[in-house]
Amino acid sequence: MKKTIPTLAAERQYVIEKEKFVPVSQYFGEDTFNHKVMKEKLPRDTFRKLMDAINEDQMLDEETANIVAHAMKEWAIEKGATHFAHWFQPMTGITAEKHDAFADPCGPGAVIERFSGKQLVQGEPDASSFPSGGIRATFEARGYTAWDMSSPAFIKRNGISTTLCIPTAFISYTGQVLDKKTPLLRSIRALSKSAVNMLKLLGVKGVKKVYSNLGPEQEYFLIDMDYYYKRQDLVLGGRTVVGAPPAKGQELEDQYFGSIKERISSYMHDVEEELFKLGIPAKTRHNEVAPSQYEIAPVYEEANIAADHNQLVMDTLKYVAKKHRLAALLHEKPFAKINGSGKHVNWSMSDNNDNNLLNPGKTPQDNISFLVFLIATVRAVYKHADVLRAAVASYGNDHRLGANEAPPAIISVFLGEQLTQILENIEKGTIAKATNAEIIDLGISSLSHVSKDNTDRNRTSPFAFTGNKFEFRAVGSSQNIASPALVINTIVAESLDEMAEKIRAKEAKSINQAVFDVLKSEIKTIKPILFNGDNYTSEWEAEAKRRGLPNEKTTPSALKALITDKSLKLFEKYEVLSNAELKSRYLIHVERYIKDLEIEVKCLNHICLTQVIPGAVAYQKRLARAIVETREVLGSAAVVSPQTELLKKILDLINKVYAANKEIQAKVEQAAALHDEPKKAELLGGKVKPMMDELREYVDALENIVDDEIWPLPKFWEMLFVC
Ligand code: ADP
Ligand code: MG
Repeated sequence: MKKTIPTLAAERQYVIEKEKFVPVSQYFGEDTFNHKVMKEKLPRDTFRKLMDAINEDQMLDEETANIVAHAMKEWAIEKGATHFAHWFQPMTGITAEKHDAFADPCGPGAVIERFSGKQLVQGEPDASSFPSGGIRATFEARGYTAWDMSSPAFIKRNGISTTLCIPTAFISYTGQVLDKKTPLLRSIRALSKSAVNMLKLLGVKGVKKVYSNLGPEQEYFLIDMDYYYKRQDLVLGGRTVVGAPPAKGQELEDQYFGSIKERISSYMHDVEEELFKLGIPAKTRHNEVAPSQYEIAPVYEEANIAADHNQLVMDTLKYVAKKHRLAALLHEKPFAKINGSGKHVNWSMSDNNDNNLLNPGKTPQDNISFLVFLIATVRAVYKHADVLRAAVASYGNDHRLGANEAPPAIISVFLGEQLTQILENIEKGTIAKATNAEIIDLGISSLSHVSKDNTDRNRTSPFAFTGNKFEFRAVGSSQNIASPALVINTIVAESLDEMAEKIRAKEAKSINQAVFDVLKSEIKTIKPILFNGDNYTSEWEAEAKRRGLPNEKTTPSALKALITDKSLKLFEKYEVLSNAELKSRYLIHVERYIKDLEIEVKCLNHICLTQVIPGAVAYQKRLARAIVETREVLGSAAVVSPQTELLKKILDLINKVYAANKEIQAKVEQAAALHDEPKKAELLGGKVKPMMDELREYVDALENIVDDEIWPLPKFWEMLFVC
């Protein structure tokens, strides 16, 4: 391909024009209809009613909704908005929005800006074109969106268009869930209820609500836009399906935390400015391990808000990239043999007085509570490791999990030495009476000082306790964090309830004694899930097998955990997902896996037939002509063996590419004839995927010998190092 230096000049001009310096504190959240704005714009009693409705999960009466809608509209129009949109998170994996103009005809030739309470509270998008996993019969295509009052409405700017976006839940007309937000909200409620009950049982007073908190660390790649648009595999599937590794990858370990290039710094600055306007507390940014890979981590927030914000972070990363003539890649593995991208999701629980329930405390009482919530979480992961694994299963993430750069597909928990020792002491029964002195003796009181810094730099663990939170590291970079979060919330809710029941059943002298008796037996049971060693080793894989831990390496097999009796009962009991909803979700995920794979197969087919083979044939022709012409000039004795050897190699590889591609197409057709989706997914994943990898080897071998001027695709070294 003709080499072009990326259009840095245009990008630089954009940055210079944009430069302005306003302290973040002066504009943070200015594009959100947040508490401060509501307090300012709403009549006092309306504001109070709205707050009550938010805090108590109640509906808003029509009159109040009308007043709020009016204030929201006035505010949005001041910000330049012409439209409003219910913003929701269907099962597509991305967000959706349908815009309606505020302008409404009022008499001949005139319009007036209108926005009613009804329009704010409920929308009726046609649901027939969203994934439903068969939940909704096609004749009943109506769905509706319902305002999520707990997440602030915001202004979305796109070019010169400005829209008021209202976060909403998305449900079918018959009340079944069609999105990611609704079950998350339900799981938040379930966890709160179970955690409050547990605190009451432990004698902790004054807690009305418990929140789950999420802090996602988002990884992504940035490459120059010119290269991006020359790769249909990246544009359509998010991942390069062919491409030889560059001469230099990440072996020098010079990228992680390295100084950030000017172009990237400007981009990050721009991204953060957008996020700050949306009230998203973007905190940390740095270079990641792979070349051209980066991370952004906002400060943790309440789970529902954090999940919405993470969607906006991903949108903003992509949107701002275009302005800088870059492309942001959120796929889990855009480049084979180069580290992929994940999203560590930090999770904790806190009460309405802002106490982190996973924070080791200073008093014996705090410590008991800490141990109960800690062990309840570990216990939940032990019991539902399979469901947790299913929650992060996707076609893209299959490239990462177990690939020695991310945790394996085996879910285990890391607690660190100190905590492990404490649990062992409890299990061995060195604590007999649960007196205050004994509880202090466990060494927990010292945990609060040291643990945060001391616990874990074990980066190989999928579920690590890191001082006052758990870090779930198996989540894929492109994933909506609502899915893993709703699983964690629900399994921990169940675990707390089950432990509470056991504590109540003990006829011990004191509550503390009962708690310790239960902890003791629970620790014994859940021990197999605890692992402090290196999760990347084959020894661990063998050991995990001995311990009976699940190890599902592919999405089709991992997803089955969603529809076991155990899982169906769990989500139904906590009213997070009904059996029908969960089964439909399972199907949606299976179908998605199939579609992702099929898209890649089509890209690969097209790239092979219309780019790789024509490029290789052009070089073949050039070599053949060179051999003939050289002999014409120098006679048949001329040495043309290098050219001949190359020509033979090229021919051989072209044949192999062509044959492998044909074989793949035949297998895909065979799969298409299957009407059982899970079987189809297994056939595609089990048979076609390895064939794609084999085909890729041939294409990459060609890339390494075909004339660079002729090769039709941007290469890894260009995409990853020219920026
Ligand atoms: P690391 O060392 O793993 O890169 P940090 O300790 O900087 O990460 O934290 C990463 C993320 O964890 C941040 O988003 C941070 O806000 C979040 N986090 C910190 N405390 C909590 C908590 N109590 N609950 C949930 N997330 C938290
Ligand atoms: Mg981390």
